[in-house]
Amino acid sequence: MKTTDCKDVLANLSCYIDGEGSDELRQALEEHISRCRRCRVVFDTTGKMLKIVTDAEPFEVPLSVSARLYARLEKILSEVCFQDLPELRGASYKGKPL
Ligand SMILES: [Zn+2]
Repeated sequence: MKTTDCKDVLANLSCYIDGEGSDELRQALEEHISRCRRCRVVFDTTGKMLKIVTDAEPFEVPLSVSARLYARLEKILSEVCFQDLPELRGASYKGKPL
């Protein structure tokens, strides 16, 4: 597999967190996250937020919660990541642009 870059990681982040994607993809993402501080911050933040949401609501995440989560994610991601990585602006989470 070709070298995974930050753009690939963000593009596949929702797959990874949801436990989807091939082993190869997950391995490549893990490898990148382990050596890229920026992606690690994004990944940790996203994972923690999703865990909070899923702990509070073990079945389906209500739309209102999703909307708030997306809003928080957008804010955090724009602060920690996108300001100096303009090429990542095309990334999406669950089909929603970040
Ligand atoms: Zn990265």
